[in-house]
Amino acid sequence: MVNRIIQSTKNKSSVNKEELQQETKKIMTIPYVQGVSEKIKRVCYKEGIHVVFRSGKTLRSILTHVKPKPDDNNLPGVIYKIPCLDCNRSYIGETGRTLQVRIGEHKRHCRNLDTSKSAVAQHSLEEGHRIDWSGSKVIDKETNWHKRRIKEAIHIRRIPNFNQDEGLAISPIWTSDITR
Ligand SMILES: [Zn+2]
Repeated sequence: MVNRIIQSTKNKSSVNKEELQQETKKIMTIPYVQGVSEKIKRVCYKEGIHVVFRSGKTLRSILTHVKPKPDDNNLPGVIYKIPCLDCNRSYIGETGRTLQVRIGEHKRHCRNLDTSKSAVAQHSLEEGHRIDWSGSKVIDKETNWHKRRIKEAIHIRRIPNFNQDEGLAISPIWTSDITR
């Protein structure tokens, strides 16, 4: 009897899992950190991403370690940083296109004084600061839109920035591991 109950519970949970995966379709594997990963799972679920835990590594390993290469400017799907020449803050952004194309847009918004379309233009105009275009670089790579948004949000929290918002809402608890 007990065995039968266990068996039926097992079947039920595996069916639910499959249903969930079919429903959400997007699956992300992240390292398991007790008390933290559950929160990520909840946040990601709201974004339509099913999170699967793997053990052994830290949250830091979500981020790709990127050594800047000349080719990165022409690589689609990146998280990038645009520094300011007059303060220690930077703009962190993500694009499914290339950095070169995206920088071109930021420059255009700056020229047109279009502060509503670019936080870079806003910072430059409101603070009177000069943007370090040549210091702009790719800081992470990710072609998957959902993952890129998550990585962007993590990077925003790691670096002093002049972003208008912090990107995807994530709990500060799970960035503490990465910002250390
Ligand atoms: Zn500045």
